[in-house]
Amino acid sequence: MDLFEYQGKQYFARWDIPVSAGGVADTVDEAVAQAEAAGYPVVIKAQVQVGGRGKAGGIKLANSAGEVRFHAAKILGMDIRGHLVRRLWVEHASDIAEEYYASITLDRTARKHLGMVSARGGIDIEQVAAEEPEAIARLHIDPVDGLTAEGAQDLVARAGLPERARAGAADIVRKLYTCYVEGDASLVEINPLILTPDGRVHALDAKVSLDDNAAFRHPEWEAFRVTQVLDPREALAQEKGLQYVGLQGSVGIVANGAGLAMSTLDVVNQVGGQPANFLDVGGGASAEVMANALEVVNSDPNVRAIFINIFGGITRGEEVANGVVEAMRRVTLASPIVIRLDGTNAEQGRAILKEHESERLISRPTMVEAARTAVQLAAARSAGSPTSVPPPPTVASSGGPVQ
Ligand code: GDP
Ligand code: MN
Repeated sequence: MDLFEYQGKQYFARWDIPVSAGGVADTVDEAVAQAEAAGYPVVIKAQVQVGGRGKAGGIKLANSAGEVRFHAAKILGMDIRGHLVRRLWVEHASDIAEEYYASITLDRTARKHLGMVSARGGIDIEQVAAEEPEAIARLHIDPVDGLTAEGAQDLVARAGLPERARAGAADIVRKLYTCYVEGDASLVEINPLILTPDGRVHALDAKVSLDDNAAFRHPEWEAFRVTQVLDPREALAQEKGLQYVGLQGSVGIVANGAGLAMSTLDVVNQVGGQPANFLDVGGGASAEVMANALEVVNSDPNVRAIFINIFGGITRGEEVANGVVEAMRRVTLASPIVIRLDGTNAEQGRAILKEHESERLISRPTMVEAARTAVQLAAARSAGSPTSVPPPPTVASSGGPVQ
């Protein structure tokens, strides 16, 4: 779960990371009230989960109630690269001497946490990484050892921060690490981390991603969850307890197991199609689960064909087949289904599917053949031609290692 800047700053404050005093506003009047409370000058910041808000006109300084009104009215309702601004953060403006960058994230390959600090903050860090990778100092942190004071001091020194900023920056980097670990984040990032003319180091922005696997021990995350802007398809999937990620294509996907679901996306791409989603039904494929999965996939108006890819393990083939048939009775689908069923009791499962085979339910023996059929169907239906079932391929079509 990604937090908005204001939530990230609230999170930072719990671990004593210095942030500016401020408050949220959903209306122009509220923005003025928050500005009066924070004290002028203030900075008015669009709360959207996308970077580069400054350049897009979503961050403005204001010296009076009149200026707050003017800017707040402009920023509320603004569209920043597809993100509608519904909420503002208004904080006391800081004087900036220098802008730095600091973050902690997980480096899965190294099996360690990764701290990054740069003296080139305030700008897009990806750009710095691409053009001037040596400007970013890195430190792998063993999760068992944690981050020592010496480690943090060395990191900020290597990043080339000036002497007068080092103690403050190292202190913040350590607190950031504690916030990341205790707060169960997968990313904490401060860009810019500023040095004020009077020598204080301070977080001016906050980017925090929380690790959803740890949600069970954070009842307080509920407050963040209610403000999440979800894709309507993802909202429905979440309600149904399904692992779903919405994509842009026309082939809806239902698979069991995250690995198989990922492979299914690859195979659809490989045969020239575009997946509409990732959906993992998990271990079971009962009628209940299938009906839920099909309902979610069906709610996507871009879907033209649905590819169900199930490898029976503990869930047996005939259960899956019965589940699909029953789910089709429960949910009225806008698109035809192509199913590939393999694994435990696949023969029995396919026999059941054969009894129900129609233009709406097509069974194919391999993953590649099923993907081809689903992609052809989706293409034909997108082109507006009447739904017709492409004939099964005559040549053996399993060209690669994926069956
Ligand atoms: P982002 O562009 O979406 O990452 O938004 P940031 O919160 O990082 O702000 C972008 C830029 O606005 C910063 O790099 C600063 O240059 C400027 N800015 C933000 N807050 C203040 C402030 O309190 N005072 C001043 N002078 N500039 C600010
Ligand atoms: Mn920023």
